[in-house]
Amino acid sequence: MTSSHPGRVLPGPKAQAYLQRDAAAFSPSYTRPYPFVMDHGRGSEVWDVDGHRYLDFTSGIAVTATGHAHPEVVQAIKDQADRFLHMAGADFTYPAQIELAQKLNEIVPIGEETQVFLTNSGTESVEAAIKLARYATGRSRLIAFIGAFHGRSLGSLSLTASRPVQRERFAPLLPGVSHVPYGYCYRCPYHLTYPDCDVYCLEFIERQLFAKFVPASEVAAIVVEPIQGEGGYVVPPPAWLPRLRALCDRYDILLVVDEVQTGFGRTGKMFAVEHWGVEPDIICLAKGIASGLPLGAMVGRKRLMTWPPGAHANTYGGNPLACAASLATIRLLQNGYVENAAAQGEVMLARLREMQALHPTMGDVRGKGLMIGVELVRDRESKEPAEALREALLVRAFEHGLLLLGCGESTVRFIPALNVPPEFVDEALTIFERTLADLEEEMGLA
Ligand code: PLP
Repeated sequence: MTSSHPGRVLPGPKAQAYLQRDAAAFSPSYTRPYPFVMDHGRGSEVWDVDGHRYLDFTSGIAVTATGHAHPEVVQAIKDQADRFLHMAGADFTYPAQIELAQKLNEIVPIGEETQVFLTNSGTESVEAAIKLARYATGRSRLIAFIGAFHGRSLGSLSLTASRPVQRERFAPLLPGVSHVPYGYCYRCPYHLTYPDCDVYCLEFIERQLFAKFVPASEVAAIVVEPIQGEGGYVVPPPAWLPRLRALCDRYDILLVVDEVQTGFGRTGKMFAVEHWGVEPDIICLAKGIASGLPLGAMVGRKRLMTWPPGAHANTYGGNPLACAASLATIRLLQNGYVENAAAQGEVMLARLREMQALHPTMGDVRGKGLMIGVELVRDRESKEPAEALREALLVRAFEHGLLLLGCGESTVRFIPALNVPPEFVDEALTIFERTLADLEEEMGLA
């Protein structure tokens, strides 16, 4: 392939020097899929410390919803910084966090009064949900899904089930957590086909778990990602989430929806559950909520919030800079960015599906809005995951000026900023296709 950035050698000299320092200074538990050292970014473009330009189709793992350094978000942060930086939102209050809590109560897809708990990250939002679900129901057990990612602190890690390395040597985790298959039709563990399967993967919960070893009356909550993120950008079939909601209702089990990755316009609607018309009892939020400032939230039905002062709190949750950034972010999302995500997402999905017809390694193309995954396989018949191809593709795309991330065993994910313009979508897909074609040829997969 002719490099779209001829003549550049990566990593450049400055990046190399930083990477040496990085490797020495940091815990080796971080992953570094390719040697990108960021200098600055604007919108969907980023530049490394040697001055090379890239298209960012990672959004810092689905975080920079409004692109890098959006002027309105930066201005809101500056204005707040001039007033004060911190005042322990758990003990004292201030306009930015009150306005944000009201806004979140207004926009979450729950049709009755809700209340907010502010956090600093996704994992902390999930921890808060686990604690509230146990407190409100007086029950202790939890059900989560194989392939799920809910975070890495010990409570949320007990729900996470997407890669063994995330759990190895960290046991014991929370007791009373059962994992069941997700609605992953491309690799149905029962080898059934939707809709003839009648969503057996959910029936399994009643027929096997509840009938044999998990008393439903002890289950506080079922925790679910409406589209699995780290697990491979897996979109469940149409009946799946509504059936899950009905199952929860039959047993008075809370439905906790983890929208940490799918939320805030990512899927072309403000929240992904809106695609299915499903209402959660508790919703976990983070990532795109504040365009990059560390913030998360757990929002639940007010009638569940029976816990007393002191039952749950934190020092930094609701940091005023993060709240100001979040309010500016939500304004931008509501004023056109969510629509752009829906429109650009359709363009991307259509073009990726056209490519799929020409590229035998593109096993499955799926997604909603700008949360799109392409699952790479060694061949379409066996569906053997092409992990080496995926890893090579991430590196090669980087060399050609496109930042992408993987997820699942062999999926490439496309998660640009929600305001990505059409010309960057076109540029990114052109780089992706040329890179894939080259690698298919080189690896004998064409
Ligand atoms: N939940 C989901 C669905 C996620 O995708 C993630 C992170 O990728 C988390 C929770 C954890 O969020 P954080 O890394 O902010 O703790």
